[in-house]
Amino acid sequence: MKILVINCGSSSLKYQVIDMATKNAIGKGLVERIGLAGSVLTHRTKSGAKEVITAEIPDHTVAIKLVLEALVSPHYGTIEDLKEICGVGHRVVHGGEKFSKSVLIDDPVMEALEECVELAPLHNPPNIAGIKACQTMMPGVPQVAVFDTAFHQTMQPKSYIYGLPYEYYQTYGIRKYGFHGTSHKYVSQRAAVLLQRPLSELKLISCHLGNGASICAIRGGKSIETSMGFTPLDGLMMGTRSGALDPAIVTYIMNKENLTVDQMNDFLNKKCGALGVSGISSDFRDIEVAAAQGNARAQLALDIFEHDVRQFIGSYAAVLGGVDGIIFTAGVGENSASMREGICNNLEYIGVDLDIEKNKVRSEEVDVSKPNARCRVLIIPTNEELMIALETNDLIR
Ligand code: ADP
Repeated sequence: MKILVINCGSSSLKYQVIDMATKNAIGKGLVERIGLAGSVLTHRTKSGAKEVITAEIPDHTVAIKLVLEALVSPHYGTIEDLKEICGVGHRVVHGGEKFSKSVLIDDPVMEALEECVELAPLHNPPNIAGIKACQTMMPGVPQVAVFDTAFHQTMQPKSYIYGLPYEYYQTYGIRKYGFHGTSHKYVSQRAAVLLQRPLSELKLISCHLGNGASICAIRGGKSIETSMGFTPLDGLMMGTRSGALDPAIVTYIMNKENLTVDQMNDFLNKKCGALGVSGISSDFRDIEVAAAQGNARAQLALDIFEHDVRQFIGSYAAVLGGVDGIIFTAGVGENSASMREGICNNLEYIGVDLDIEKNKVRSEEVDVSKPNARCRVLIIPTNEELMIALETNDLIR
């Protein structure tokens, strides 16, 4: 049983074929510059060998066609026949309030997805284009949509309603949705396995710290609070995104800098965060190197991020009424021992007792707490593709 997982961006497409018997990716790749000059498909085989295919790729349909050809290539392919693909799982960023779990795609679902475009105008259209392309190129193969927002649909109104006139929620759908749900769900399930306790009994705080970063309070396997909001701009300061701000700053900067709405949106998403503070890079590796060399603003960016994460952990401990485990995942969470150590500093009051030596690992699924720590600190590499494949597999069976 093999599942194709597709993640479409506006000009890119990532894919993996996952063998459900072993849960391993047996082929994966990336199409870049769709609709632009210099489009390219980079395919990796099971052994990790790389094949670069340059071609004109004007749209997602052509991209999917090339991916499918690469998958069955006699030279570097992954499978012998496309018939081996039993289903396709699509990452869809925004499911609004319509989708609280993954769904098998049919015509009414496609209509509902179109209605969610307004909430994620940059992300949902390429996701939909990818689904349509697969429907065209792989007729009869079941397609499943897996949403970044679905996991957070268990939040209560007191968590997701903003202090705005209630009509804005009713009319425009303005509320907290939360993102990275597939990742938070996956790592919380793995945490239960690692801790050898039922998920239904656990109070967990999942810290997905990558370029985009969000934190989630999970009780009994359900999201009850999360740091991203109406859009993925909210919450923590991130690589290039500001995170939460006094809302009055937005209009203040627009006035001072004479910015249009679109320019301001671009500014908050692409020029702020760790990049804006450090003035060096949005990449935490570069910032850590600069800070180690004595760059004060790089150090400040790291300090802000660490402080932000610790603040959320503290507030989520209050919301959960205790914490059994803190999970670190994604680029920074999985790889930066110093960031994890910094964040865990001062968390003794909730039972954290980090083993500094054990913590010096990267991308391993491991408990890095001292034996008697009440609140366990776990590193769990996320695997959103596998989670999408598992949900797809469940729905098509
Ligand atoms: P996304 O999927 O949101 O693009 P990732 O989860 O891949 O992001 O995380 C990317 C971030 O992880 C980058 O800022 C990168 O610098 C950071 N990162 C990766 N490895 C390390 C490391 N060893 N130390 C610190 N940061 C790291």
